[in-house]
Amino acid sequence: MVQIRTADRIGTHDVIVCGGGPAGIVAALAAARNGADTAIIEQYGFFGGTASGCLVNPISKFKKNGTQVVGGIAWEFVENMAKHGGALLDYPNGNVPFDPEIYKWVAQKMLGDAHVHMYLHSTAVDCEMDGHGAIKTLVIHSKAGFRTLNAGCFVDATGDALLARLTNIPMQEYDVSSLQPASLCFIIDGIEPQLPEPVHPRLDDTRYYNKRLHDLLEHLKSEGGEVPNFGGPWFCSIVSGTALSVNITRGAIDPFDIESLTKGECDLRNDMHRLVELLKANSPEFRHSRIVQSGIQAGIRESQRIRGVHVLTGEEYVKGKAFFDTIALGAHPVDIHRSRDAGQDVQFLNTCGKVPYRSLVSAECSNLIVAGRCISADRYASASIRVQATAMATGEAAGTSASLCVAHNKAVHDVDVRQLQMVLKHRKAILEM
Ligand SMILES: Cc1cc2nc3c(=O)[nH]c(=O)nc-3n(C[C@H](O)[C@H](O)[C@H](O)COP(=O)(O)OP(=O)(O)OC[C@H]3O[C@@H](n4cnc5c(N)ncnc54)[C@H](O)[C@@H]3O)c2cc1C
Repeated sequence: MVQIRTADRIGTHDVIVCGGGPAGIVAALAAARNGADTAIIEQYGFFGGTASGCLVNPISKFKKNGTQVVGGIAWEFVENMAKHGGALLDYPNGNVPFDPEIYKWVAQKMLGDAHVHMYLHSTAVDCEMDGHGAIKTLVIHSKAGFRTLNAGCFVDATGDALLARLTNIPMQEYDVSSLQPASLCFIIDGIEPQLPEPVHPRLDDTRYYNKRLHDLLEHLKSEGGEVPNFGGPWFCSIVSGTALSVNITRGAIDPFDIESLTKGECDLRNDMHRLVELLKANSPEFRHSRIVQSGIQAGIRESQRIRGVHVLTGEEYVKGKAFFDTIALGAHPVDIHRSRDAGQDVQFLNTCGKVPYRSLVSAECSNLIVAGRCISADRYASASIRVQATAMATGEAAGTSASLCVAHNKAVHDVDVRQLQMVLKHRKAILEM
């Protein structure tokens, strides 16, 4: 615990959202629009997290068999991006390719319009508990040093359950060797002529990696060539122009181990360049291509998740089990990438999965709600829930609940779930299909 001095306190809010990725943006908007004085803490100088920072594209997935399953603020957000020419909304499968720069800008504008207090370049590093199972004070760090903030309710949308870890609530154990791999994604331009194969997922329940390039890399490997570990590859339009986002590198990384993180980042950067060299040398349309930009860091698919009041299982999720406290739906397949080879285990869903509110809260902390990738789900359910549209939907539920808890002075597990569902539906969130 770092030294907390009263002089360091820079703000008191009703709700503080830690993490400004897809889940955190929507959580903060939901809380603020529901009347809470809301702040958002983000370690980088922009919003969007893995989406806009790590260049992961598209946003998956708003529809199942043509029916909308994620609405609310998440859909409003992509509609706003589309108004600025930064998103394609017409894919039948409900995936939404986007322009990462428009993403950052629209997020910032929407948060500003909702009067969310933004703390950028600020990393949540510690918290002080009140002795009765509630977070009393949040400690953030920036170049100004350590500062403290207070709030009635907190949302952890850090992807890695960072704030939850700091509170010492129960977490799910994870085995680094079986984590899904991390990937350094990047934007490439100058592919000429454009790839004739599909460059993005348009249809439901289809694998959309580029099979020709996958087979080419496997062939080079079988011939004894030095081919780094790869996945896919997947290409996605960034809406305008000829550049494409690319997801091809993969490596095991434990984000809580600095050695693993450092080595992983360096290895993935080497692999990115080596793989592009191989494509340039062996696939004519890549001859004049160049890497325009790589992600601000490796994208982390899987790490720490909380052990909440309910641990959503893959079985429940795949069967589409309905819960009395369903607060979000998901339609992305259970999508597990393998760390050690180019494989991916995919189970498409017959119906959409449902997420219960109890998977967003722990019995051990009365004013913390978790949203996005780190909610309480086993690794199979999580392998679908982790995608962006579902992360945003859990964010809307978390932010709305946080505002209700503050307004009614309730612990997060005592919130009136019917009221929460009513507010969500009123705001066009989709809770049943
Ligand atoms: C390689 C890869 C490919 C993927 N492909 C797809 C895809 O095609 N479609 C799709 O929809 N999803 C895809 N995903 C999944 C998806 O991008 C993420 O799971 C999703 O972004 C999770 O959202 P989140 O808001 O929970 O977390 P994140 O996007 O990780 O956002 C967390 C935010 O919190 C911030 N933060 C973290 N710690 C702190 C702290 N201590 N203090 C302050 N701020 C903090 C981070 O900077 C970040 O902005 C992919 C992921 C990866 C890694």
